[in-house]
Amino acid sequence: MVKKNDRIELNIVDMSADGSGIGKTIGQENSGMTFFVKDALVGDKIIAKVIKMKKTYGYARLMEMLESSPDRTEPKCPIHRQCGGCQIQALSYEKQLEYKQNKIRNNLMRIGGFDASQIHMDPVIGMQETYRYRNKAQFPIGRDKNGKLAAGFYAARTHVIIPVEDCYLGVPHNRKIISHILEWMERYHVEPYDEKSGTGFVRHVLIRYGFRSGQLMVCIILNGKSLPRSKELVDKLTRLKEMTSISINVNEQRNNVIMGNTVKTIWGSDYIEDWIGDVKFRISPLSFYQVNPVQTEVLYGKVLEFAQLSGKEIVWDLYCGIGTISLFLAQRAKKVYGIEIIPQAVEDARKNAEINGIGNAEFFVGEAEDVLEKLCGSDDMDVPPDKEENREWRPQVVVVDPPRKGCGEKLLAAILKVCPEKIVYVSCDSATLARDLKVLCAGGYEMVRGQGVDMFCQTVHVETVCLLSRKAQ
Ligand code: SAH
Repeated sequence: MVKKNDRIELNIVDMSADGSGIGKTIGQENSGMTFFVKDALVGDKIIAKVIKMKKTYGYARLMEMLESSPDRTEPKCPIHRQCGGCQIQALSYEKQLEYKQNKIRNNLMRIGGFDASQIHMDPVIGMQETYRYRNKAQFPIGRDKNGKLAAGFYAARTHVIIPVEDCYLGVPHNRKIISHILEWMERYHVEPYDEKSGTGFVRHVLIRYGFRSGQLMVCIILNGKSLPRSKELVDKLTRLKEMTSISINVNEQRNNVIMGNTVKTIWGSDYIEDWIGDVKFRISPLSFYQVNPVQTEVLYGKVLEFAQLSGKEIVWDLYCGIGTISLFLAQRAKKVYGIEIIPQAVEDARKNAEINGIGNAEFFVGEAEDVLEKLCGSDDMDVPPDKEENREWRPQVVVVDPPRKGCGEKLLAAILKVCPEKIVYVSCDSATLARDLKVLCAGGYEMVRGQGVDMFCQTVHVETVCLLSRKAQ
């Protein structure tokens, strides 16, 4: 019987949804037993050490490569295995795209209950530059194992930071900004936050870069309400000519949520700007903005293609963030209503409509499920809840773009109640997408098309857009 700490030989035959290799034991008395091994790829033959045993499978660590997979490529990042952010950096890009296509398809079949013949999907759309595509970086600040100030990531199950000189997914500016901040902390004895004791000051640094505008934003997340020696820090950071906005964010909670609710600008503008297609966007520190601007344009192009707007439609954009999809679609619709939970994001969305001269988009703050419930409260949707305003509410097209956990049941029920002709579902987690599509399809819709877009090269994540259409009664 295989047990913990045994060394075993494995053939890696498949890959799991989190990017681990799935191996089968060879040459043991119980050949064919399954093990999950991080950093192993399909086609590898390896020696691994068992780290955990379950009844019918186990977990093992890659120790030695006996034969390496033909799909391997040279990873750029020397610490990609430790970091774990890029789970499949060692896999050739072509195979990464294949892996993502299979992941979406498997989830739709296994979780969504769709038959292979019902799934119409072109291959995942990849990108040319598979590194340095991210416009956002978030670094925790702390101390490394020698007690030196550092920015990087937490070593697994510790409060120690593994320093990151340069993350290859991010822009080169990140490195300069981080080194300025660490120098400033060193010089003026500004303490990093200590997760364990809850003491110290600087928790995280958030950096955003507008790829088309060239504008930089830095937000320092503090366990405190104001920044000492802020002038000295501003002097350093404004040496970068692209610097546009420097702010602090107050987070005095003892949890692992990165940002608190309060932001104060300490230099420059409260936001940076960027473009998607012809639409200009204002982005504040607390607002969600897609991290891969090049592929965002491809993704929204698909949303537009799937929505097939003629200019007469009422569209709802649920989970609308700063109104990116809403404003993209408003150019081809009669009216777009967006709903979003973060008030600052809604403020940005309204401002974005204004600066682009888009008069047919309106935004509401709140939980999508609650706002919808109110709007759909009346059984006769054509009678607006507030008759004075006399808005036309009933949508022909509903777009949803929820966070990873997907749409709540209440929201799905509200969508089914208003019964739009089309639903365009944008998802960053194909497992919850599949779960939600099952509900919508049981409620009278059919999946017409799906399309994966790779917004997160080197990682196991993939964005998916699906078009659902109401079945004829
Ligand atoms: N469509 C936007 C944002 C998508 S991200 C874009 O492409 O840029 C998901 C958004 O949903 C985030 O802005 C998040 O703040 C918001 N959100 C999360 N839970 C929500 C809820 N219950 N109701 C409304 N918005 C929510």
